[in-house]
Amino acid sequence: MTTKVYCYHCMTYHRPESMQKIMTRTGERWRCIRSIEAAQSSVDARDAFGERQSEINKARARAVQENAMLDRRLTAFVL
Ligand SMILES: [Zn+2]
Repeated sequence: MTTKVYCYHCMTYHRPESMQKIMTRTGERWRCIRSIEAAQSSVDARDAFGERQSEINKARARAVQENAMLDRRLTAFVL
């Protein structure tokens, strides 16, 4: 018989070798390594996404500025 450990994150039981004991505000708890790693990689992905998004925003702001300058130049030329 295999003893299973309750995973507070998945709210189910996993095999003890895939579990890791972690400290929470309420005390020691068991959580599966898989869910810990999944949480970490989703944080990484979120960070990467945030950086990419701010790069896009910067590029967009720059393009808008350049367009505005071009518009002014064209207006000046036409007048
Ligand atoms: Zn789990």
